[in-house]
Amino acid sequence: MKGAAVTVAGCGKTYPDGTRALSPVDLTVAAGETLVLLGPSGCGKTTLLRLIAGLEAPDAGGRILFDGADVTHLPIEKRNVGMVFQSYALFPNMSVIDNVAYGLRVRGIAREARRAQAGAVLEMMRIDALAARRIDQLSGGQRQRVALARALAVRPRVLLLDEPLTALDAALREHLRSEIDALLRRLSITAVYVTHDQAEALALGDRIVVMRNGAIAQVGTPRDVYFRPADDFVADFVGITNRLTGRVRNARFETAAGVVPVAASDRPDARLLFRPEAVRLVSPVDAGLVARVAQVEFQGPRQRVVLEAGDGVRLIAEAPADLALTPGEAMGLVIDPARCTLV
Ligand code: ADP
Ligand code: MG
Repeated sequence: MKGAAVTVAGCGKTYPDGTRALSPVDLTVAAGETLVLLGPSGCGKTTLLRLIAGLEAPDAGGRILFDGADVTHLPIEKRNVGMVFQSYALFPNMSVIDNVAYGLRVRGIAREARRAQAGAVLEMMRIDALAARRIDQLSGGQRQRVALARALAVRPRVLLLDEPLTALDAALREHLRSEIDALLRRLSITAVYVTHDQAEALALGDRIVVMRNGAIAQVGTPRDVYFRPADDFVADFVGITNRLTGRVRNARFETAAGVVPVAASDRPDARLLFRPEAVRLVSPVDAGLVARVAQVEFQGPRQRVVLEAGDGVRLIAEAPADLALTPGEAMGLVIDPARCTLV
């Protein structure tokens, strides 16, 4: 199963009712890569996925290429893509094996051959024991495994997944997420995975495209997007964000609570964004930035610490579970320069 490289060139989408769901975007997905489209509901993720699938046509001028070949005017059945939806979209009164073999039947593959091929995929997904069951006799997690097996059975060049785990409960979601992750890596298939869940995006993506209002806010590796968000929107969407306002002078970010060394040129107005894990709590004499412990929450593997940095500025840090902290005491904050960003 060799994945295709996908190029999206200047693809926008305005629906017939006038809704502008997507501004023209440019995007590439490398062969074998898992690209995650992440953003709030209504930002255009499904629209972009459907353009890649061939379920919608882009506005005039937009082009979609698979391995350099223009597929813009090819319908979905000629693009050799596999799709997985939140709603499974399986045939409820057909057996598991018939569902998985369905795409092969549509392609005119003989019964024996398609049952063998479908059986192999069921085995790979470790659901071969369910082959004869009807879909309406399965749990949600089993159904989604069948939907994934069906999408993979046609040996797609590109696998497209639209919020496949959203309908499942939290524990199952995490379990299936790591199964999907292992599968995508093992098959080195090209995948575009849509989600509004930041944890899912960070765990699964080789790269993440953060979307907002029908446009791309940032494209980067999970670490880029998490530690070096392009703006406040991306910062807040992918996790807890600390913010300090101040200015940069002589490679130091100066704020009311002290200074933080930064690799940036002078600017009069700047904000420093960083995650709780980018902070190390030390003795106040060992850091340029000092804040008071306001609240400590023991979380098992670590403690979450709320700090007051003066002028009502609250910061959140993470500390090892065994660090002794007393509300009211002053602590020094060392912020990892590789895991903070100036905006
Ligand atoms: P997401 O998947 O990120 O939630 P969608 O791509 O489904 O976003 O939708 C983007 C925008 O386009 C939304 O405002 C949505 O209401 C609108 N939209 C989606 N599909 C249609 C359609 N078939 N006709 C008109 N508007 C649509
Ligand atoms: Mg959607």
